Parts: sequence; C-alpha cells; structure tokens
Amino acid sequence: MSEIYLDNAATTKVYPEVIQTITEALNEDYYNPSSFYRSASGVRAKINHAKETVAKALNVDPKELIFTSGATESNNTIINSTVKRGRKDFNIITSSVEHPSVMNVFKEYENQGVDVRYIPVDEKGNLDLEWLKENLDDKTILLSVMAVNNELGTIMDLASVKKIKDKQAPKCIFHVDYVQAFLKSTDPRINLKKIKPDAVSVSAHKIHGPKGVGALAFRKETKLKPLLLGGGQEEGLRSGTENTASILGFSKAVEIMGEKQADVEKKLRELTDYLAEQISRIEGSKINSPEDGLPGLLNASFKDVKSEVLLHMLDQKGILISAGSACSTHVKDSYVHGAIGLRPEYSHGTIRISMDETTTKEDIDTLLDNLKQAIKNLRKLTTRN
Ligand code: PMP
Repeated sequence: MSEIYLDNAATTKVYPEVIQTITEALNEDYYNPSSFYRSASGVRAKINHAKETVAKALNVDPKELIFTSGATESNNTIINSTVKRGRKDFNIITSSVEHPSVMNVFKEYENQGVDVRYIPVDEKGNLDLEWLKENLDDKTILLSVMAVNNELGTIMDLASVKKIKDKQAPKCIFHVDYVQAFLKSTDPRINLKKIKPDAVSVSAHKIHGPKGVGALAFRKETKLKPLLLGGGQEEGLRSGTENTASILGFSKAVEIMGEKQADVEKKLRELTDYLAEQISRIEGSKINSPEDGLPGLLNASFKDVKSEVLLHMLDQKGILISAGSACSTHVKDSYVHGAIGLRPEYSHGTIRISMDETTTKEDIDTLLDNLKQAIKNLRKLTTRN
C-alpha cells in the first residue's frame, strides 16, 4: 500500500541530497573540529560554511548563531538566559498558544513566582494586540511569540507586535519561535528582515533536514547566557562537540528549501484553499485555521467524532495525519483548543493535515474520499449506540 504522508508539521522526510551530505560527513569528516591538524581544520571550515548558510537564511551574522540540538534547546536557552538576567521586579510575556518547549518553561517560572503573562488569542489563534498594549510595560524583560502556530497554522502579526514592543518596552528581549515558518512563508507579518527580533529558534527536521539539530540566532546585543557548560564550543555559548554530520545536513536542507520556497508556497496555498473548501462542505465540520494561515497546514474539527479513531481508520488506508499536534499526543485536550474557545464536541474530533512540496491534488482527493467515508461510518456507529 502506498503512503500519503500529511503530517509534515510534525516532521518531514529527509531530502536525498541531505542524506548524502550526512553520509559523506560521517564517513569523511569524523575529526573533532576543535583539533589542531589540517583534517580537523577542514571540518571546522565546513561547519563555518554551514553556519554562514543558516545565518544568512535567518538574516543574522554567523557570529550571532549557535547550533543546538533543536528548537526545544534553542527556546530553553533564550528564555532561561533572559530570566536569569532579570533583576527583582520584572515580568515575562508569551502567547497562550506557544509550543510546549516555550509554554512549559514559562509555566515553570510561573510556579517559581515570576510574573508571567499570556497573550490571549481569538478563535483562529490571532493575537489580541490590544491586550498586549495594556500588559507590556517597562518591566517586561522577555516577549516570546511564535511566528506560526504549529497546530492551527496561524501566522502571527509579529510586525505589529514589534512596533508595540519598540514603543512600550524598547529594552525587552523579543524572541520568536520560527520553527513552523522557516523557509515556508514569505508573509510580511513574519518577515525577519523587517522585524529583526532579538532571538530566533529553528529546527532542521521541519525543513527536510535531520532530527536533533537546530539553531538559535541572536543579536550580539542580546548577551546570551549558555544553557550547557563544558568544553566552550560555540564561543562558550553552547558546549559539546559539534554534531558535524547533522549540521552539514541542516545547511544542505536550508539551501534546497530556499531555492524552491516561492514555488512551493504558491502550490501549497492552492491545495490548502481547495482542501478547506471541500472540508467545509462536510456536515458538522469546522475549520479552525485562518484563511490567511500557513500554506500547507489545515486544522479542522468534526462534531461528534473522535479524532483518535478517525486517525486510526485513515492510517489503515495508508493516510497519515495528526490530531492537533504530534508533540502533545500524551496531553488529553490541547490547551490550544482551550485558548481558541473550541467547544468539547468539536475539540475531540480535531485533526491537522500538513503537506509538503510533494503533496498532489490526487493525494488530497484520496484523503477527502477516505475522510468523508470514515466520518460517515463513525457517526452511524455513534447514533446506533
Ligand atoms: N516550536 C514549534 C512551533 C514546533 O512545532 C516544534 C516541533 N514540534 C518545536 C518548537 C520543537 O522542535 P524540536 O522538536 O526540534 O526541538
């Protein structure tokens, strides 16, 4: 049975060129880049080149970027670094729909007594900017807001957030979890060149690179404190022998994605609009993603249907999608559903479909046929009981 993979917001298939780069690096570039012989300097040069590539894509200088084990580490690093620098009376702000790798760090500080504030969102996940104007003040030391929500695909209005921040809290660190947006959206609301955040987190496995590698970009004025101490790699900001193969694979994925970005974005916009239109015709359906959300990501709910059962039925047909988000499968109900005010009868039947450049209209039609059939069967079962 052929597979239709529609869970690209969870992770992506690794590009063959990336696999080749990684394989070559594992075979040939095994020297410790910090060693002093020429072969090791060769590896260092390759890592430096990879850093230039990723830094350029994030609009920072290579000196303003460290490689990490992924966005979870990048997010933890910048949040902890900023809070540790906080003096007595301060507050930190994030949105109510962040990824757990931001949300749980904020919750931890909240438990420790820090003044933590969460920006509310509307039913499509858009930030309440009026709330931000009222709550961001000169005591706010950190404002962390994602560019694209991983469950809904909502593109956050970071351009407006930045304006508010510059006016009301110019010294506050503005961090952006850019994981779901990286090389996937040219939307002006999240244009890094215009917004120039103080810190940005990304992960390689969302852009057809390997898992377990990512980056944190930061403006040199950001005065980063390391999360990991040790051998002093990455100018002392991230100790641990560099993950050479993964770093080179990451940079290769950035190169390839960057070249295709405009074409892929256009194609995915059309497919997403088509899918949304078709799903909205199904009885008892509700589209949770905004119309101007990330191309390729659609979140929808079906009344009186259990998403786990739906997912399982589609899995048996070789169609792989997700319920809400893959990162929170062990959490009963997504807090994102709560934040957008999704009622329980819809919340339990929520799915996330996320495409990539290889997704075709035939794939979407096959998904739709199977989805409609599965929903019909499930509803028949529940009305019989
Ligand atoms: N932020 C967002 C928005 C994400 O979607 C993810 C991955 N699901 C992460 C952070 C964490 O990335 P990683 O798993 O690579 O640490």
